[in-house]
Amino acid sequence: MPQNEHEFKEMIAIDIFYPDHPPRTESKLFAQTKRHLVKVLDTPCWVCGVKDKREVHHFHAEWADADGIDWDKMRVLHPNFPWSTFKEPSDFIDSEYNMMVLCETHHRAKDRGIHMMPYPIWIMQREQRADFVFASEVA
Ligand SMILES: [Zn+2]
Repeated sequence: MPQNEHEFKEMIAIDIFYPDHPPRTESKLFAQTKRHLVKVLDTPCWVCGVKDKREVHHFHAEWADADGIDWDKMRVLHPNFPWSTFKEPSDFIDSEYNMMVLCETHHRAKDRGIHMMPYPIWIMQREQRADFVFASEVA
């Protein structure tokens, strides 16, 4: 057990705006991307390596943000994306380039999921020692 372990407990209130968007629907590309990454390539959770209850996380851009993104900036920030295939935001957002395979826990669980805490806290779980307790047991 690491020395001097201590609990950090903070309540975070998030107050941001999303661009207006229609109700989310799963695109054909999203279904293809998820199937290829999880079923064909058998990609494990990026954080813990498990292969149970895997989901795909939109990493660089979330679908709900599509209308708020400056796509010229995205082209500069992500030169390795195959921009010749880009016709609409979902071509990037639902692509394998934008996806991270995560287990259900590291995607959405309280005190462990990327959607539930700031990235600098969440990322520590990837490099943590086996004898270090990151958070209370998952309920
Ligand atoms: Zn995981």
